[in-house]
Amino acid sequence: MKLPFSESFRIKAVETIYRSTREEREKWIRDAKFNLFNLKSNQVFIDLLTDSGTGAMSDKQWSELMLGDESYAGASSYYKMKDTIKDLFGYDYFLPTHQGRAAENVLFSVLVKEGDLVPGNTHFDTTKVHIEYRKALPIDCTVNEAFDSSNNHTFKGNVDLQKLEDVLKNNPKSKIPFIIVTVTCNSSGGQPVSMQNLKDVYSMAKKYDISVLFDSARFAENAYYIKTLEKGYEDKAVKEIVSEMFLYADMMTMSSKKDAIVNMGGFIGFHSEDLFKKASVFNIMYEGYITYGGLSGRDMNALAQGLKEGIEFDYLETRIKQVAYLGQKLLDYGVPVLVPFGGHAIFVDATRFLQNIPKEEFQAQTLSIELYLEGGVRGVEIGTLLADRDPLTRENRYPDLELMRLAIPRRVYTNNHMDYVAAAVSNVYDRRNTINKGMKILYEAPIMRHFTIELERC
Ligand SMILES: *Cc1c(COP(=O)(O)O)cnc(C)c1O
Repeated sequence: MKLPFSESFRIKAVETIYRSTREEREKWIRDAKFNLFNLKSNQVFIDLLTDSGTGAMSDKQWSELMLGDESYAGASSYYKMKDTIKDLFGYDYFLPTHQGRAAENVLFSVLVKEGDLVPGNTHFDTTKVHIEYRKALPIDCTVNEAFDSSNNHTFKGNVDLQKLEDVLKNNPKSKIPFIIVTVTCNSSGGQPVSMQNLKDVYSMAKKYDISVLFDSARFAENAYYIKTLEKGYEDKAVKEIVSEMFLYADMMTMSSKKDAIVNMGGFIGFHSEDLFKKASVFNIMYEGYITYGGLSGRDMNALAQGLKEGIEFDYLETRIKQVAYLGQKLLDYGVPVLVPFGGHAIFVDATRFLQNIPKEEFQAQTLSIELYLEGGVRGVEIGTLLADRDPLTRENRYPDLELMRLAIPRRVYTNNHMDYVAAAVSNVYDRRNTINKGMKILYEAPIMRHFTIELERC
């Protein structure tokens, strides 16, 4: 018999989770004003809100905590991180920050000014906010295939070179501080970017003398996809692929809460000493001295160790196959999910799922609430609430895709948990025709409303 695929780790410490009753959940979600962010974590049985900072550290990472050097300046933990970043990505200069958006804040403080344009594949929300806050404009140049949830294109994170060239050709160089490539592309569904595309974007950037920045939160998952899907890379080690990917970026920002498998942390990497010096000023202002940047020594140690584990093939295969395991179960149950499956999450197409609910009643939020009631599973709305209102007209902005995201934390849940989640989604799907009412807004903040929004049933 062919041996089945199985996890590449065993479990050393466990955490109990509470399996609540439907009556309890009915009360809790009402008390939470139908906003899943307002739930207490012990009101959730399986938490798929995000894969950010929710991973399980390894025994080696926990040991690294004990070895952390808490010196204010020049800590050995800083040098551990520095050596690892040089080894993996090739950058001579780096700055630690407390998370990914902090890295964006520091770097963009140097590079982005009013009136600038920042082209790239779909910008992550914090990235977008940090650009727009500086009165600059993110320009989405993702390939068209990304906006069709049933299009099985392999590299849906790719930048459309024609769209990119149009931006570069028609605007002065002084207005384009850099091109940003997000690997994998979180906002288009955790979709990978091919090596060929990274190479092409970089050579176009150099033709116009513009820098390239990688938003690198899931760089290792992207490298896994290159290895398993792109011709010529099947026999290369993930580490070699990562080294090659970063030949095509002048600098990187990193949310280490993703592929460095730590609960908190981030950094910026660059080749340019001049840029490093300028960014250091903002790092000291916003984050902390340049050799700790908002992180404890122990955090930097765990982060350096996590970066090494994050590129191990067996780890990545376990991770990405678990996400695909959930995705395949849902497909088998007939549930409309975005394909190909993302690296870190499965996205359920709420528009196709809840056909009795108009978009004005927030399909993906309604679905997320139904799933919570069904099984205590917490997903998250990636749809109209997240998209906020148009800043000028104040009308709801309806995005191309109205999705419920089920993000899988790294090394946390077993495939039995995935079976449970799939069954819960399937039960909601079976009774979809009885769900005829969506949600309406009671209170919302002017921006990033999804975090604090209050809702009631229509
Ligand atoms: C999470 C994330 C960020 C922001 O990082 P935080 O650590 O949450 O601040 C930026 N870009 C991408 C692609 C991300 O996934």
